Amino acid sequence: MDESAGIYLNDRVVPLAQARVSVLDHGFLYGDGVYETMRVYGGVVFMMEEHLARLENSASLIELRLPKSPRQMKLAIYETLEACGHKDAYLRVTVSRGEGPIGLDPELCPRPTFFVYAGRLTPPSRDYYEEGITLAVANTRRNLREALDPQIKSLNFLNNIRAKIEAKKAGAHEALMLNHRGHLAEGTTSNIFFVSEGALLTPGPECGILRGITRDTVLAMARRMDMKVVEGEFTEEDLLGSSEAFITSTIMEVVPVSRLIGAPSHTHTGIRDFHGVGDITKALMAEYRKEVFSYVQNTRAAGPSIWGFTE
Ligand code: PMP
Repeated sequence: MDESAGIYLNDRVVPLAQARVSVLDHGFLYGDGVYETMRVYGGVVFMMEEHLARLENSASLIELRLPKSPRQMKLAIYETLEACGHKDAYLRVTVSRGEGPIGLDPELCPRPTFFVYAGRLTPPSRDYYEEGITLAVANTRRNLREALDPQIKSLNFLNNIRAKIEAKKAGAHEALMLNHRGHLAEGTTSNIFFVSEGALLTPGPECGILRGITRDTVLAMARRMDMKVVEGEFTEEDLLGSSEAFITSTIMEVVPVSRLIGAPSHTHTGIRDFHGVGDITKALMAEYRKEVFSYVQNTRAAGPSIWGFTE
């Protein structure tokens, strides 16, 4: 437990011991809610606007009306950060349907619960970046878009948790899920990229993925760097035959993959070992760091108005 974490619940910052949510909260009872995870660098929330826009989108896809405007959410976020003892922090904004009688009807809950957590950031170890991670293709498939659209970053993460359990059993750091058609989709909390014949490939939104903010940043960087980029439908064999692979997420940034393990139930099961971190991955890792650095500099230079205090 991070005792120095900052917590904002509904309308104010509260001490950890007083941060309590009802057992009748539908977020707890049914996983009815949405959230965002952000990374804070030197007191600046990276891509805050983009994360708040995605939160709004997730909420609208489950017809949940956010209880705060973007400006009010920014104020709450910075108040929480001030209450937290860290400048480099992990930040999570959670909105659940709120407290209400038992039953699925959202109208049973008049007031959504709004919760911000800012705490110690535990970034992956340096080995991840220097040596790469092991990625295992899971038997658990990514949710069908027509059932629970992966674009909804919801409080119901069982699909990804099942895949994570498989990855751990396979001795891997992260699982990669295929969609119902057998095409590559995404990791449990990350997006996948790989390199084939010099081109940078990644599953497109039509594959049923969460459009990662890091993914979008990497795609924009790669295009700027004149790389050939293809978003589309790819198979496990495409990945096993690639020359480089990496995953992306807000917390982990760009992490090279050093070993790929094919899904145990598939006939073409295989292991692909990469030798060292590939050149394209290295270039994108370096560029991402620069991107973060300039974002932090520009946000600081723009002053508090961009943070929502003086609007
Ligand atoms: N896919 C899933 C399912 C995730 O939970 C995450 C983490 N938010 C990602 C991809 C990566 O998204 P981002 O780059 O916005 O963190």
